Amino acid sequence: MDQVSGQDPNVLIVGTGLAGVGMAIKLLEAGEKNFVILEKADGVGGVWRENTYPGCGCDIMSMMYSYSFAPNTDWTRMYAPQPEILDYIRRVVKDYELEPYIRFQSEAVSYEFDDTSDRWVVRTADGDEYRPRAVVAAHGALHVPNIPEFKGRDTFKGPVFHSAQWDHSVDLTGKRVAVIGTGSSGVQLVPQIADAAAHVEVFQRTPHWVLPKLDRPVSTVEQRLFKAFPGAMKIYRNAAFWLHEAPVAGYFHPRLNTLLKWMSLHQLKKQVPDPELRAKLTPSYTFGCKRILFSSDFYPALQRPDVSLVTEGVEEFTEAGIRTADGELHEADVVVLGTGFATGNRCADEHIIGRDGLSIQQAWRDGMQAYYGMTVAGFPNFFMIMGPNSGGGAQSILFLIESQVRYIVQCLRMMEDRGSTRLEVRDEVQREFNTWLHGKLDKSVWVSGGCHSWFLDHTGRNRQSWPGTGTSYWRATREPKAEAFELSGAGQR
Ligand code: NAP
Repeated sequence: MDQVSGQDPNVLIVGTGLAGVGMAIKLLEAGEKNFVILEKADGVGGVWRENTYPGCGCDIMSMMYSYSFAPNTDWTRMYAPQPEILDYIRRVVKDYELEPYIRFQSEAVSYEFDDTSDRWVVRTADGDEYRPRAVVAAHGALHVPNIPEFKGRDTFKGPVFHSAQWDHSVDLTGKRVAVIGTGSSGVQLVPQIADAAAHVEVFQRTPHWVLPKLDRPVSTVEQRLFKAFPGAMKIYRNAAFWLHEAPVAGYFHPRLNTLLKWMSLHQLKKQVPDPELRAKLTPSYTFGCKRILFSSDFYPALQRPDVSLVTEGVEEFTEAGIRTADGELHEADVVVLGTGFATGNRCADEHIIGRDGLSIQQAWRDGMQAYYGMTVAGFPNFFMIMGPNSGGGAQSILFLIESQVRYIVQCLRMMEDRGSTRLEVRDEVQREFNTWLHGKLDKSVWVSGGCHSWFLDHTGRNRQSWPGTGTSYWRATREPKAEAFELSGAGQR
């Protein structure tokens, strides 16, 4: 099939990760074929295409890591490794015949709302121009690597790369590897590189709460069962769903997570007999304040004679390695930055100009905010998936994406039904919503639990998390409320 939409589509989606792909499928199901998807790379998959570090996988159970409408009966493990998730996304794209809608190597670099036509003008790095009625920004919350400005970083003579930009041309065999960062990415990659490397030094700034990862292969009997009886898969999925909902209440009432905290400390005690090392790995902040990690092999990896934990702060990079605050030089051949992603204002470098020339930087000068993470006052017909405060809990992001995609389709339908060319969340509605939201979040462990995490911005506000369960988000976004929006047509103003 040839590409189906021209330069003036009804909807322009940015990104072919799980969010963009899900959006495209639901548009097709709603009968909307006049849309395009811009993808900066030459393949689909979003973060699951970009993150290829050794051991990369999902710490959400695989049974919950597929769209509800496209279950995957082929998962080989209870927690899916990255290549399988990428395969799944590719397969869904093929099954739903989305390729013709995708413009690969088309990076959207500028978005400007045209007040006269009520259309967005979206330009790509190659100079192409699109004029969609609506934009769906599905480019994810965790796609800009955080590369700290370590003193002397460029003087180091060996390769330095970020976990999300793994340099596969660098052979780690027999090398001394320094890994900075012990978040979700760091704990997954350290055990995987330890065998090949001569020595791994793990630089930890703050210990994390780590729960055992109940991973195991999905047996062929189970796989056959899922294929023959879809209901069996649903039972697994439901169990996984409620397991992921369970810790959320404890983010607001920490005592409810006492059992999980005990499980974390129990694993630590069992796997790390040395009390001195254990003390270094024991968090001093409330359980759940930082995103909880799931790993059963990180602590054992630290027991190896060729792996060591460094808890002194990184002072500077030198030609030969990393000098820590105590003056010690840790010689290394390769440095891996498991230092996370820029999340404080993920649109800080984006050119997004809404109504009356308002830039996203001006709109978010006091911090990122939106209405249910999807619409932003001043930016008509602009929808975000996984925008501010719509993730960050414990539930599978797929569940939240499906809620958002359904809501956005309904917003578009509402515009059509009313003959409107413009839909914009009312400023006062967004303000009231955020007052309510932060009132709840300020009482959560994310804000008051005594830690710093990527959930918080420089003002200390949580700009990532929804203050409740996935179910409560689903319920709140089941149907858009028309009165929350200004709806108008060019002839109606
Ligand atoms: P992260 O959780 O933000 O961890 C970054 C690590 O780097 C932390 O240990 C942090 O220390 C450290 N760090 C950052 N800047 C530093 C500096 N200047 N000096 C020393 N240490 C520094 O990042 P991530 O591990 O990439 O994970 C980010 C998110 O991606 C996760 O929370 C998750 O949502 C997602 N993810 C998911 C999976 C999955 O399995 N589903 C896998 C990977 C990633 P501090 O703690 O002291 O800040």
